[in-house]
Amino acid sequence: MHYFGYKNGELFCEEVPVKKIVEELGTPVYIYSASTIKRHFKVFENSFLPVDHIICYSVKANSNVAILSLLRSLGSGADIVSGGELQRALKAGINPQKIVFSGVGKTEKEIEMALSTGILMFNVESLEELEVLGEVAKRLGKPAPFALRVNPDVDPQTHPYISTGLKKNKFGIPEEMVVEAYKKAKDHPFLKPIGLDAHIGSQITSISPFKDALYRLKKIWEEITSLGIELKYLDLGGGLGIIYNNEEPPLPEEYAEAIIKEAQDLKATLILEPGRVIVGNAGILVTKVLYNKENLEKKFVIVDAGMNDLIRPAFYQAYHKIITVEEKNEEEVVVDIVGPICESSDFFAKDRKIPRVKRGDLLAIMSAGAYGFVMSSNYNSRPRVPEVLVDGDRFFVIRRRETIEDLLAPEMVPALYL
Ligand SMILES: *Cc1c(COP(=O)(O)O)cnc(C)c1O
Repeated sequence: MHYFGYKNGELFCEEVPVKKIVEELGTPVYIYSASTIKRHFKVFENSFLPVDHIICYSVKANSNVAILSLLRSLGSGADIVSGGELQRALKAGINPQKIVFSGVGKTEKEIEMALSTGILMFNVESLEELEVLGEVAKRLGKPAPFALRVNPDVDPQTHPYISTGLKKNKFGIPEEMVVEAYKKAKDHPFLKPIGLDAHIGSQITSISPFKDALYRLKKIWEEITSLGIELKYLDLGGGLGIIYNNEEPPLPEEYAEAIIKEAQDLKATLILEPGRVIVGNAGILVTKVLYNKENLEKKFVIVDAGMNDLIRPAFYQAYHKIITVEEKNEEEVVVDIVGPICESSDFFAKDRKIPRVKRGDLLAIMSAGAYGFVMSSNYNSRPRVPEVLVDGDRFFVIRRRETIEDLLAPEMVPALYL
């Protein structure tokens, strides 16, 4: 569900014509719909109303401070994976008591920063990390609330690069070792076990992997509490999939219902870490056609956005719908839509049927709100593109286009070569 659609033959984001934004800011440009984000958040939130819960939006999906502020205004907390994300969350005014810190490679400095901020809990991903957390907590004289992230060894049936809950993945701690670790932490004066955590992957389009993981977590939860360790938070991570093409992911209501049914006898406060499902379909990347090119076997449409702006097709063979900003009745042709980067993986679509386009036409790459801008880079010395947030009939630049000066500012030439 989203608020992008044609009105009188041209693409609108809510009540703003996409062309109007392009006229002001040029291309490429990311455009987000605030109403779509609000709607997704509320639907998700309402689905969990029957139980105690905290929604900790996964900051890495889209970390623009304006987006985080919008989500904070709706009551969201944050799931962070770095000190940088912590600072973004705090800048957006997110309550530290609604922040959880995940990730396999937290540095001591990051742990220190989060602990002094007073976040809700650390989702610890290894026994060594737990030790370090204990040491830092002791040094600061401040007990560290934590959950262990379990690797429940369930197959989320998603792309290998975004599956995280299999034995062979680097994430989480094997079931067999988790209970031992809680036992050890129990008597540590500066470690405070308060929860249990798992996150099994992303873009998951059926309920069963979530249920399988929860089933495992319940067993572990009961083992831990039988040791006299009182847990309060059951963190189920994120991962609910969205429609890019013809997927049929469960609705948030269905997802919540299955989880609530399975989890309610634990009397835990649930923590949910949705990312993609909140912002994925709330954003598009608008790009301009630079050239049409016909080789002997293929037709290419070359556009001004590249894999550095949106890497998902190159990285995960991800599918994104691509539509023209002006509705077209032209005959359809089969083309590869590619960017200007000097890599063959720089494509947005292969063998895609689209209406014939010409130089200067605008294309909208749909469902680019999650893992889009945040994964962008300056490869080929391309300044990162602006981000715009539409709310009703207004739009706001929430990140300006970078300049070449921005790119060059941190670089220094040794006097030797001047
Ligand atoms: C990436 C991530 C999420 C969010 O995943 P989505 O698929 O975007 O919902 C949640 N929790 C953790 C620990 C993550 O790494």
